[in-house]
Amino acid sequence: MYDAIIIGGGPAGLQAALTLGRMHRRTLLLDSGEYRNATVRHAHNLLTNDGRDPAEIRRIARAEIAAYDTVEIRDAAVTGVEREDNALRVDAGGEALRTHAVILATGVADELPPIPGLAAHWGDTVANCPFCHGHEFAGRPVAVLNASPHAAVLARMLEPVASEVLVIDPAAVREVVGRDDGLRLHLHDGSAVEVAGAFAAPTWRVRAAFLDRLDLLRQDSGALRTDAFGRTSVEGVYAVGDIAQPDHLPGPLFSLAAALAGGQLAAVAVVQSLVMD
Ligand SMILES: Cc1cc2nc3c(=O)[nH]c(=O)nc-3n(C[C@H](O)[C@H](O)[C@H](O)COP(=O)(O)OP(=O)(O)OC[C@H]3O[C@@H](n4cnc5c(N)ncnc54)[C@H](O)[C@@H]3O)c2cc1C
Repeated sequence: MYDAIIIGGGPAGLQAALTLGRMHRRTLLLDSGEYRNATVRHAHNLLTNDGRDPAEIRRIARAEIAAYDTVEIRDAAVTGVEREDNALRVDAGGEALRTHAVILATGVADELPPIPGLAAHWGDTVANCPFCHGHEFAGRPVAVLNASPHAAVLARMLEPVASEVLVIDPAAVREVVGRDDGLRLHLHDGSAVEVAGAFAAPTWRVRAAFLDRLDLLRQDSGALRTDAFGRTSVEGVYAVGDIAQPDHLPGPLFSLAAALAGGQLAAVAVVQSLVMD
């Protein structure tokens, strides 16, 4: 019987593991190796790690966690979670594991607009968040590939950073081709524009297919509904990082720092709950 099983080895899950390890709680972290920022080579906007490869951040995190004897990390995919008497059962790698608490940190999966060539640059010269990948295009033109009302907001955010912001309907783009110093966007009308980078608007869905045996409430955004400490609508089940949206926020906060904060808060709540029980 574990004190906590953490599902997900991105920043949210790894931080939760570190916090639980420091409190000597018997913890298992399960990681299927599907990271949202898998194509990113330089993550930004994370103090002391600005520009670091996310894979390196995960490697350092695992090395730090290895110093805590009560935490085990396994590379395995979870296929189901359900309540069983006074515990929770987690199915992974053909095994049924039992735990007092589950911390869901499985993140989200992105689906990019179907523009040929776009996906090859995702996480490098094609991004979605100006806070994470905007400064890198400073002083050069950028494209916002977005036809929604949000495009104007994004364009205004980028104005102080880029020399020019071109708002382009994704449906107008025939192909994206990489260049040494940016991208060339070939449009259906035969013209082409050259930019340092482009901001695309992927649709995202939470990685929660294995949770259908739990009655978890969602927010309108589709993210799992939680309180400020990551508690979901099911007792003993917490959700943190990209998969979660606490009630006090207008949407899920997609950032490394927010994922770390969420992971730590949920781990604190798990420890408190174990002590109170
Ligand atoms: C292109 C791009 C660039 C970004 N750049 C930045 C940046 O520069 N700075 C920044 O702050 N943020 C950036 N972000 C956002 C940041 O990557 C996410 O906010 C962050 O990774 C969320 O962390 P997480 O732990 O919630 O999820 P993830 O990092 O996605 O981790 C999810 C974890 O869950 C595991 N998992 C999923 N399903 C299962 C299962 N069934 N069983 C077991 N394990 C499972 C996965 O293997 C993985 O370990 C970027 C996002 C994108 C898409």
